[in-house]
Amino acid sequence: MPELPEVETVKETLKKVILGSRITSVDIYYGNIIKTSKEEFVKSIKNQVIEDISRRGKYLVFHLSDYYLVSHLRMEGKYFIKRDEEVDNHEHIVFNLDDGRTVRYHDVRKFGTMELVSKEITINEHLSHIGPEPFSEKFNADYLMNLNSKKQLKPFLLDQSVVAGIGNIYVNEICFLAKLHPERITNTLKIQDFESIVVETRNILRKAINLGGTTIKSYTSSLGVTGRFQNELLVHGKNGGCPNCKQPILKIKVGGRGTYYCKNCQK
Ligand SMILES: [Zn+2]
Repeated sequence: MPELPEVETVKETLKKVILGSRITSVDIYYGNIIKTSKEEFVKSIKNQVIEDISRRGKYLVFHLSDYYLVSHLRMEGKYFIKRDEEVDNHEHIVFNLDDGRTVRYHDVRKFGTMELVSKEITINEHLSHIGPEPFSEKFNADYLMNLNSKKQLKPFLLDQSVVAGIGNIYVNEICFLAKLHPERITNTLKIQDFESIVVETRNILRKAINLGGTTIKSYTSSLGVTGRFQNELLVHGKNGGCPNCKQPILKIKVGGRGTYYCKNCQK
């Protein structure tokens, strides 16, 4: 599933090619992707200019003239820019641009969502259920400690209301780098532990963004951008030895999610 670095990569890639373009019409081949009224969607999107594209958590936000188009890629959503090619089976929403190009939303699993939101409210108000961005000042050790959560650490960090944008891959890496067991009950952690979570979260996300995200079988970026962070993963998907102590990396389920960790290094 695309997480913060992957969505950030998609955003930056799309910004380079479609900012300023006008959408002349939209063709919907699989309507369930659209969570707001489909009739309104088709009608409202006509003649909207793509003024900006931003990211909030794992959401991609197209700033149109009068609306936000809020897109969540979920498991395998991708965007492609094409010209006259025939529409592929997995291309569910096709935006036609004024210069003859098309922006195609491609989603094999069809779990992705889109909604059109009036600009009468800000995008942060619309997405107010999402917690602070990892690079914002609000995301700090005191904030995490004060939440006084009784959850296990891994589900705590996966909770989008705690921090935005982190998913299964990066949380495995963060717990490893912070030397914390993913099943630790969060309110047993000390302030120094929360500090290292904040530092490692930012380090790993920054590094992943610089490498264009992680390309794994359920996620490749659109527009020919292939992330290279998979080469840097320390524990996620590994079955060899721990990079620190050479003990075997263990795989367990935590909150139903595949979890990789080192019993020796993570307490
Ligand atoms: Zn180890």
